[in-house]
Amino acid sequence: MLLRIHNLQAGIEEKEILKGINLEIQPGEVHAIMGPNGSGKSTLASVLAGRQDYNVTGGSVTFNGKDLLELSPEARAAEGLFLSFQYPVEIPGLSTTNFIKTAVNEVRKYRGEEPLDAVAFLKMMKEKMALMEMDQAMLSRSLNEGFSGGEKKRNEIFQMAMLQPKLAILDETDSGLDIDAIRIVANGVNKLRSKDNAVLVITHYQRLLDYLVPDVIHVLYNGRIVKTGTKELALELEEKGYDFIKNEVNSL
Ligand code: ADP
Ligand code: MG
Ligand code: MG
Repeated sequence: MLLRIHNLQAGIEEKEILKGINLEIQPGEVHAIMGPNGSGKSTLASVLAGRQDYNVTGGSVTFNGKDLLELSPEARAAEGLFLSFQYPVEIPGLSTTNFIKTAVNEVRKYRGEEPLDAVAFLKMMKEKMALMEMDQAMLSRSLNEGFSGGEKKRNEIFQMAMLQPKLAILDETDSGLDIDAIRIVANGVNKLRSKDNAVLVITHYQRLLDYLVPDVIHVLYNGRIVKTGTKELALELEEKGYDFIKNEVNSL
């Protein structure tokens, strides 16, 4: 088991948001989390990444056999957890290359490995750039500054390619992902998939799941996973909307 979430409860300030999440992910799997706005999807991603501000009030998370909740965000990344950002930060003056180099070497440092030397780093950059069809010019620009939505996505997936995570958590925005950006994310992730890594993609878009086909789909509603199914569930949701799930839950 790569990730095991057991009865996870978490919130922010006094507000309880996650009310007992159970989820297990094996290496090689792609899981999707869907669900209405405000269900707690981004909160789950944030808690897994170890963002401050969130309080875990119950339950456990095991990642790679370790107690994830005990680890700092940096240590989580070093263990192989990657979280994409729903709203990527723009950092004027910091080149995308230097940002990625720092991220890669931070992870190496945590693992007790030497930083990559310039030649090895460049070789890896070139390999992954070709794989991700990245435009070299983007890498010398300031991080995310003036990037189009598609460029931000490409850059994010490129970071993922460079970090080679065991589990990538992709929290996609509720709006504004155009069809090109959807393809960039899906194609990139598909190229990075292997039997040893896994992906947890949070999305509203049935369309994204046409390209990035999940093994399992979960519906998060009001802080709980209320339904789990295969890719057909996404089609059912697309057709019926979330109301039928809400009705099912509320009639219990
Ligand atoms: P989703 O990603 O499914 O749309 P979120 O995890 O963003 O849901 O939010 C879940 C609930 O937590 C919502 O009711 C939201 O208003 C609340 N929430 C999220 N972030 C904060 C915050 N920083 N302070 C207070 N409430 C928050
Ligand atoms: Mg939201
Ligand atoms: Mg969200």
